[in-house]
Formats: sequence, structure tokens, C-alpha cells
Amino acid sequence: MPARTGQQFLEGLKAPREIYLGTEKVDDVAAHPAFRGAAEELAAVFDLQHAKADRCLVPDPETGEPINASHLIPRSRDDLFKRHAALEVCAEHSVGLMGRTPDYMNVTFAGFAARPDEWSLGGNEAGAENLIAFQKDMRRGDLSLTHTIIHPTVDKALGDVPRPGNDVALHKVGETEHGIIVRGSRILATLSPFADEMTVYPAFPLGEGADAYALAFSIPMTTPGMKILCRDSFSQPKHAYDHPLSGRFDEQDAFVIFDDVEVPKDRVFINANIAAYNAVMRTSWSPNIMQQTMIRAQTKLEFAWGIANRMLKCINGKQPAAQEMLGEIWAFSEFARAAIYAAEMQATEHPGGAWFPDVRPLHALRASLPFWFPRVNEIIRLMGSHNVFATPTQAQMHDPELKPLIDRYLRGAGDVSAEDRVRVFRLGWDFVGSGLASRNEQYERFYLASGQRNRQIHEMFCDPTRADRLVDQFLNLETETNNQGGASCPKAA
Ligand SMILES: Cc1cc2nc3c(=O)[nH]c(=O)nc-3n(C[C@H](O)[C@H](O)[C@H](O)COP(=O)(O)OP(=O)(O)OC[C@H]3O[C@@H](n4cnc5c(N)ncnc54)[C@H](O)[C@@H]3O)c2cc1C
Repeated sequence: MPARTGQQFLEGLKAPREIYLGTEKVDDVAAHPAFRGAAEELAAVFDLQHAKADRCLVPDPETGEPINASHLIPRSRDDLFKRHAALEVCAEHSVGLMGRTPDYMNVTFAGFAARPDEWSLGGNEAGAENLIAFQKDMRRGDLSLTHTIIHPTVDKALGDVPRPGNDVALHKVGETEHGIIVRGSRILATLSPFADEMTVYPAFPLGEGADAYALAFSIPMTTPGMKILCRDSFSQPKHAYDHPLSGRFDEQDAFVIFDDVEVPKDRVFINANIAAYNAVMRTSWSPNIMQQTMIRAQTKLEFAWGIANRMLKCINGKQPAAQEMLGEIWAFSEFARAAIYAAEMQATEHPGGAWFPDVRPLHALRASLPFWFPRVNEIIRLMGSHNVFATPTQAQMHDPELKPLIDRYLRGAGDVSAEDRVRVFRLGWDFVGSGLASRNEQYERFYLASGQRNRQIHEMFCDPTRADRLVDQFLNLETETNNQGGASCPKAA
């Protein structure tokens, strides 16, 4: 089945799985009030690839059937531009509020499949073959994947990765004729209720002796023993006026328990192999994943600038303080756009013929966005002030007794009607202040690890050659005699 429609996606969610919301086991995700809104929007994303086929679809390199460009293993800079167009269509649909639309995992696996040499390290040739075969199935079946790569935190002092004997983190406990048995838990699988498959792959490198935790695989969400504990829902009833965003875009996040789950042999990509586990994230993951995440983030920043601008227009907010804050959001958005452009233009060919964006500007964004987004929210709250709560519901706006009064007392500046003003401020509050907005801020702070952590590890991705040369041109000066006192300048070794 090539690029799926929304209806085909929704059909795929019907098979039984263990999704818990509170103590309720949710049988029909797409029909449940907590999930319906997001299920419909994700279905719309699948439909959108057909409606905007010229920007979203490309031929499968082997079958020629139409697939989403996010499944493409990029073989040129032009392929990266094609992928950019498809990622942007998806990002615009939720104005970047859904971070883990299926394109996120599509680019992840396209990146992995581009480097079978890395996946084969440490004698993992069979795992690499399984991964390549899976990526073909995934792109041709246009599957929706969730992923969980972080081990649950029990004691921060013990570090980020499990050591031998840790019985909380996901680990292998045995083998059967058909596959391996895994037990334990992982966090925090966004999109779980809307996924066809659960994927597990590496995050931080593991230490010696932790072989049992060195796993990568993908299994259907219907696999027995896998329990998905959703966080509280932030989804509001779908209502374009009252809840323009939180009625539609709660993509959910879930804690995952693997209660002795059998992973079929052909779905195991890394089987208790530390050498492979610690190698596969080195080159292909970051540039590919971050092309998706940064296009999404830039779209959200531009939307934030747009909504802030509209809020100010409603109340004629031309004061310098407000304009300065507006310019701050605009600058974030433009920096993000420029970094993505630089990464794509500076793309390079990797072993095996794949083309990946330049990871450096993307890492700079990764280390900045967790600080920019909370500031953006703060700015919109400051601009919004009490106005974000002077926002009657649509039912109130239609009430014959209230409407004339609302029209009179809540009108905006100039010719801005009360209805226009209320809609803009409701949208602004849904973006920065609602339950979903609060979750979204937490997402931006942490979804690619915390900003602090990403700043600390910047040395892994940077090239200090020019910086060193700039400094050395002063340190390497020839010793000169000081005319005044005869003292000399130090000369670098
Ligand atoms: C909404 C949401 C959705 C997510 N979705 C997914 C998903 O789909 N799949 C998945 O696998 N994971 C997901 N995650 C998990 C995410 O990957 C982790 O939350 C992330 O890696 C951060 O984990 P951590 O607790 O190790 O954070 P840390 O980086 O340890 O940060 C925790 C705190 O410690 C601080 N800190 C960290 N290092 C230092 C330091 N050296 N010095 C000082 N302070 C420091 C940070 O600022 C922060 O306050 C999601 C998380 C959120 C919040």
C-alpha cells in the first residue's frame, strides 16, 4: 500500500491494543473523546499528502509507487529540498503544535537505512538487514510510528543510562524460537494512541556490561504484553471558535511498559549488542531528524509572530515595548529559517551515497529553542494581559441578549469587531495558556533533551579550527620589544 489516505490510517487504529487513559482501557481510539480530535487531524495529514501531492509525494525508488517524501533516503541536495517541502506541508497543518506527526519517524528511519554500514558494526549484519527491510515495509505501508528511547529516571545520581542489574529499564530477558523476550519500561512515547508500531532505538551510549539494554526493534502496537499509560488528556471538545487548537492537536505522550513482550526475530535491529548500539546514532540520526524538527519549530515560531502581531493590531498596540517584543519573536523565527537554509545548502554526501544536512546550524538551534519557546510564550502572555480572558464563548456571542452588549463593549481598536478580537485572543490563549499549551512548552523544553544539556555537548558537533586560528593570530605574535619599558609580549608555544 503506497501513501495512505486518512481513512486508511484510521482503519489501522482499530486493531486491539492496550491503551490506558486513567484506568480505562480504550478500545476505539478514534471514537474516544480524549483522542478523537487528534486522530482526525492526523487523518487530515494523511489526506493532505494527496491533496498536495506535488509537494508531498515522490516515487518509491524501487517500485515507483507514490510515497511521502519524508520516507525518501536523500541521495542529493535536491532530495533534501523535496523533503523540506513535504515536511513544511505537514508542519503547517498543526502550526507546529504536533511535533511527532509520522514524518518524524519517517525521516529517522530513512536516515538509519541510509547507513547500513554503521548498523552492521560489531557483527550486527543481520540486524542491519532487518532494519533495511523494515524501512521498506514502513515507507510502502506508510506506517505511523511512535518511539521510546529514554530510560525512566529513578535516581539521577546513577546517571542517564542503566547499569547491569537495573530491573526498571527495558532489557532483554530471554530468547524463544521466534524472537527475543524484553521486559521493563521506557518513556515517553508521544503519538502512542495513534501509532501502528512502537519503535525502540538508542539514545545515550551504554557502558560496559550493559549488553541486555542494548536493543533496537519495532513491533506492532497490538503486540501482547505492551501496556501504554497515557498522561492526562489536554484535549478539549473540538470547537473551532472556543478551542481552536486544544480541540485538535493533543498528540498524547505515554509511559510504556513491556511486560515480557516477544519481539519477532525479523524485527530485531540490535540484539544486546553494545558496539552496534553505541555506533548507530553517530551520523545519520541528528541531521535527518533535525530537518523535520526545525522546520516544524520554525513554522511554530512564525505562527507565534503572526498571532502576536494580530493581538497587537486588535488593540492598536504600537507602543515601543510591545513592538520590541514582537521583533524578538520575529528574530527567533528568522534565525531558525536561516539555520535550516544553511544546513540544507551545506549538505554533504555520506558513505553509501546519502546526502544529509549540515548538522552544525541545526545543533545550534537545538541548544537554543528550549529557551526561545518559553520566552515566546512569556511575550504573548505579556502582550495579551487581561485581554486573553475577555473572550466570551461562541455560545455567548450568539446569545441575543449578550451579543449587542459584547459587540459594544468588547470591540477592538479602529474597525476591529468584537468577534474578531475575541477570536484572536482566544487563539492566543489556546496557544500559550491552555492545558495543551502548557504541555507544549514542556515538550519544547525537553523533546530533544534539555537545552542545558545540548549547550554542554556542543563540542561534539562544532569545528574549532577557525576559532582557534582567530585566537592564535594574537597568541602567536612574534615577541616585540615594548618601546616604553622594554617588557615583551608572551608568545604562544
Ligand atoms: C512532552 C514530552 C514528549 C516527549 N516525547 C518523547 C518521545 O516521543 N520519545 C522519547 O523517547 N522521549 C520523549 N520525551 C522524553 C525526552 O526525550 C526527555 O524528556 C529528554 O531526553 C530529557 O530527559 P532528562 O530527564 O534526561 O532531562 P535532562 O536533560 O536531564 O534535564 C532535566 C533537568 O536537569 C537539567 N540539567 C540537565 N543536565 C544538566 C546539567 N549538566 N547541569 C545542570 N542542569 C542540568 C535540565 O535543565 C532540566 O532542568 C518527551 C518528553 C516530553 C517532556
